[in-house]
Amino acid sequence: MNTDTRTDSHPESAFTADRAAETVTRLRATFDTGRTKTLAWRKEQLQALRRFLTERQDVIEEALHADLGKSGTESYVMEIGFLVKEIDHTLSHLDRWLRPRKVSVPMTLAPARAWTVRDPLGTVLIMSPWNYPVNLALAPLIGALAAGNCVVLKPSELAPATSAALTLWLPRYLDPQAVAVVEGAVPETTALLEQRFDHIFYTGNGVVGRIVMAAAARHLTPVTLELGGKSPAVIEPGTDLATAARRIVWGKFTNAGQTCVAPDYVLAIGETGAAIEPHLTEAIREMYGADPARSEDYGRIISDRQFDRLTGLLADGRTVTGGDHDRATRYIAPTVLADVDPDSGVMRDEIFGPVLPIVRVPDLDAAISFINERDKPLALYAFTASKLSKRRLTSETSSGGLAFGVPTVQLAVPGLPFGGVGESGMGRYHGSYSLDTFSHIKSVVDKPLKPDTLRVIYPPYTSRKDRVLRRMM
Ligand code: NAD
Repeated sequence: MNTDTRTDSHPESAFTADRAAETVTRLRATFDTGRTKTLAWRKEQLQALRRFLTERQDVIEEALHADLGKSGTESYVMEIGFLVKEIDHTLSHLDRWLRPRKVSVPMTLAPARAWTVRDPLGTVLIMSPWNYPVNLALAPLIGALAAGNCVVLKPSELAPATSAALTLWLPRYLDPQAVAVVEGAVPETTALLEQRFDHIFYTGNGVVGRIVMAAAARHLTPVTLELGGKSPAVIEPGTDLATAARRIVWGKFTNAGQTCVAPDYVLAIGETGAAIEPHLTEAIREMYGADPARSEDYGRIISDRQFDRLTGLLADGRTVTGGDHDRATRYIAPTVLADVDPDSGVMRDEIFGPVLPIVRVPDLDAAISFINERDKPLALYAFTASKLSKRRLTSETSSGGLAFGVPTVQLAVPGLPFGGVGESGMGRYHGSYSLDTFSHIKSVVDKPLKPDTLRVIYPPYTSRKDRVLRRMM
């Protein structure tokens, strides 16, 4: 877990508790007009957000390059294109998702009808991190708007170019009386967290997750916490190691390893530990060339602080490949470490950078025990040809998500929920799950006054009523 305890405020901001209160009051007044509840408003906002993503693609890609050295292709695939798809999916299903859902009524209550409706929660706070600073700010925003809420969006100050771009452009596209983008660091976020929100959606590390949850508790505000953790990639003998290595390398070293669902370490069963080493080396060379520092497709570490933390892990195993680094450009080569002691530093906390340790275990039982002895991961990956192993991993382990044969793509299936469990978070979103997160599912019953079939339930309870009721229940 990343334990950042920064206190520096945003340089140009004087966003105090008073300003935070004013912002929330303004948004609440908008919510009270009822306009955000209409289907037309929700769709307009989603279409406007889509226009922002397509018309300002260059602005977004430049910001992502400035903050994280992301290539245009990666920015499109992982952030812009992903969001456009999420909006299209939401727009094409929203009418249906919002339709009241009929529920059957027990005979004892007949005649009556029952159904559920989705109410917007009100004014919600979304706090996003720096690693996919567009995707992780706007994907929850899609759900919040689709559900008819007003939103305060607080992007991460550690991706300053993206934070500035969102602050400048979003109000030009979205209803500025319903969506406020607040830039800032700890003081500004603290001021926001003092306010009463109807939901807080936080993505980031678990230390701050606890601060968010404690602040939310004061107002009994529900929270979604999208956190991280050490996501293993289990490899069983008999799997195609060359393909597994390519997929692990892609999932791990995209965004220089700064991906919450990246495979954190390889959990290699039996001989696969040694056998996969040359395949990982080869896959890195194929994707990033002999000198990844010169690859336009390889990112950089977000800050000196993260760079120093990551380079401190490089000696925790035998270097199979990589290990080079340069503080001036915050470059750390894609690095694979073998012979890693499970108690070493690199295996203690989430790595969140381009260092891939290989830990060896003798068999699947040992792999399952290894996973279950640790915090529940955000994702579990497994490369195996065995149906039995897949069944065992599904039923004998717990993780936010589980993917066989490929890492990270569970996020890209719009019908699947995305979220953690235990230390990797609480709550879920994407697609219809976002609508559930940002709505209250209200139960409604409608029972005609005539005939008054409830007479049998009213006291005084005669022996006849008692008999009838016992038979009916
Ligand atoms: P970060 O430092 O940008 O923090 C996230 C948000 O918390 C920011 O908006 C920041 O301003 C705010 N914040 C930071 N310190 C605070 C404090 N003391 N009080 C109040 N607010 C504060 O991002 P990070 O935490 O370094 O992000 C990396 C972590 O996030 C990793 O653990 C990663 O696994 C996790 N993550 C999870 C997901 C997911 O979807 N589950 C996605 C991305 C990242």
